[in-house]
Amino acid sequence: MADIIQLLPDHVANQIAAGEVVQRPASVVKELLENAIDADATIIKLVIKDAGKTLVQVIDNGKGMSATDARLSFERHATSKIRSADDLFHLNTKGFRGEALASIAAIAHVELKTKQAHDDVGTAIVIEGSTIVSQEVVVTPKGTSLSVKNLFFNIPARRNFLKSNTVELRHVFDEFHRVALAHPNISFAFYNNGSEAFNLPISNYRQRIVNIFGAKTNEKLVPVEEETEILTISGFVGKPEFAKKTRGEQYFFVNDRFIKSPYLNHAIGSAFEGLLKGGNHPSYFLNLKVDPQTIDINIHPTKTEIKFDDEHTLYALLRSAVKHSLGQFNIAPVLDFERDANLDMPYDYSSKETKSPVIEVDRSYNPFKENNYVPGKQTTAFKKQTTNNWDSLYVGLESKGTQTEPDFSEVHFESEETTLSVFTDDKEVDKLQTTYQLHNKYIVSTIKSGMLVIDQHRAHQRVLYEDFLRSLTIKSGVSQQLLFPLELHFSSQEIEILNQLKEDLEHTGFVFSNISKETIEIVGVPVTVPDSEVSIILEQLISDVENDVPDTHFSTTDLLAKSMAKSLAIKRGQSLLKDEQEHLVNKLFACKEPNVSPTNRATFITMSVDELDKKFI
Ligand code: ADP
Ligand code: MG
Repeated sequence: MADIIQLLPDHVANQIAAGEVVQRPASVVKELLENAIDADATIIKLVIKDAGKTLVQVIDNGKGMSATDARLSFERHATSKIRSADDLFHLNTKGFRGEALASIAAIAHVELKTKQAHDDVGTAIVIEGSTIVSQEVVVTPKGTSLSVKNLFFNIPARRNFLKSNTVELRHVFDEFHRVALAHPNISFAFYNNGSEAFNLPISNYRQRIVNIFGAKTNEKLVPVEEETEILTISGFVGKPEFAKKTRGEQYFFVNDRFIKSPYLNHAIGSAFEGLLKGGNHPSYFLNLKVDPQTIDINIHPTKTEIKFDDEHTLYALLRSAVKHSLGQFNIAPVLDFERDANLDMPYDYSSKETKSPVIEVDRSYNPFKENNYVPGKQTTAFKKQTTNNWDSLYVGLESKGTQTEPDFSEVHFESEETTLSVFTDDKEVDKLQTTYQLHNKYIVSTIKSGMLVIDQHRAHQRVLYEDFLRSLTIKSGVSQQLLFPLELHFSSQEIEILNQLKEDLEHTGFVFSNISKETIEIVGVPVTVPDSEVSIILEQLISDVENDVPDTHFSTTDLLAKSMAKSLAIKRGQSLLKDEQEHLVNKLFACKEPNVSPTNRATFITMSVDELDKKFI
């Protein structure tokens, strides 16, 4: 048989490689920004059209390329950054594979203009699908401009696979944030569809974070600094009270490279232990500097994962550094073995003076002494005390003194608990037939054939979901006016998402009085929404939109209804009064699809008497 193995032509190999390097417009953004940084640029501009689908352009003032290098840069495995495998262990550049430009040129229309400082003229190259279309001498400023148009023009399947502009733009923003955060010493500008999205001057790290995430971020940041032989940590963590339900602002940089590390993320989580409300994630912006020899960044083609030699030590150091900072800034009590823990008190208590309540009591007055009885003033005062002024009763107790004082310790008050249980017991007796809450999680109810066990959280989600869908489709959300307008702060991207959802949100009952670059002002909320929940709902909604893909209007409404239902539904662990249990059961069975939650999970199960009988055989 004839030999059948062939070497792939370069342009095919490049296209295949592109599949790994370029998944979406954001990958192009990342590669081009990193090249500009590697070229020692101090000013970098990013220009995006249609979320990068039609144009990604990066212009830098870096060192530029000679005519020969410009041509070579599009060859696969062509790089100026390493020469031997050894260099991999001393890397201080972002790139090293020499694959990015070759891959990008294989699947897009690329125009390069570049000039080195000492040259009078520069080089312009146009390359489309790995084919050089032209190479010319041009007049161009020092540095490099690379534009990538019509991404995936020759791979329609990949192009169709791209998500909506909102989603793709979100990825572009993410990459931009990562690079801009890692390099506050470089000035960045970002133009999206002709308007300026970011203009970040050279600044310190704190200012860079604030410039990206909004002025309100400043007060949230707690500095973290730690220097040891093997590692330097610097940056900020967010104060626990600003922690969010979503993992938005979590950034690790190792030697200025953004990385993802669930392991180190865990270290931070554990430093925050006990400080966060359930399910909230801390935000952090942390830079780790380690000897490049102790890491291997080569394990992932898109390079957001790296391998550390000594992960355990890193974990411990990171955890203790963050803990220390939180403690220093009076956010968590510091653990100090020199100190007697029994002497500790919550920190804001220590500054408070102890003060005994000052209430005047007529010590000589004894209501039980017959001859003390003076019709009028004093008796009334006493009556008032017993009926509705409990506090003053206790004050009376404190100032034990003269014999003549009434002995209130004799008066027996039932504790609130006892009182409550008496009431509930009462109700239980006559309504036992209908519902019963099990472990604050399930509602058990009797039905003709046997029994019904309802998952309270899912059931309520279903009820709310159908309610919201109804008000969204018939645009009839009922709004309650807020006494004081609510001002909430978001990043500019988050505002953009909210802007897109504005109309739908209004149909549910939200009323916005103002939406500006980083702030929204709300004057009305849906009747079902408590104002304390508004920011949580909107945050959850933004994160749901970011993670899901609402491509059509229909799916946006659906997503909105689901997201709000999820945020507002009664949680597991919440105890419900009888009335509430019954109301929920009735509402559930009035739904169109009572059997499943909005995410298609069972809302209840039934068990018939037959089935029960079988269990008792
Ligand atoms: P890598 O960055 O891994 O070396 P690339 O394909 O991204 O591979 O780039 C190939 C080469 O082109 C780089 O090594 C660099 O020499 C040159 N280059 C790319 N972009 C720029 C730029 N903006 N300024 C100067 N040189 C650049
Ligand atoms: Mg590169």
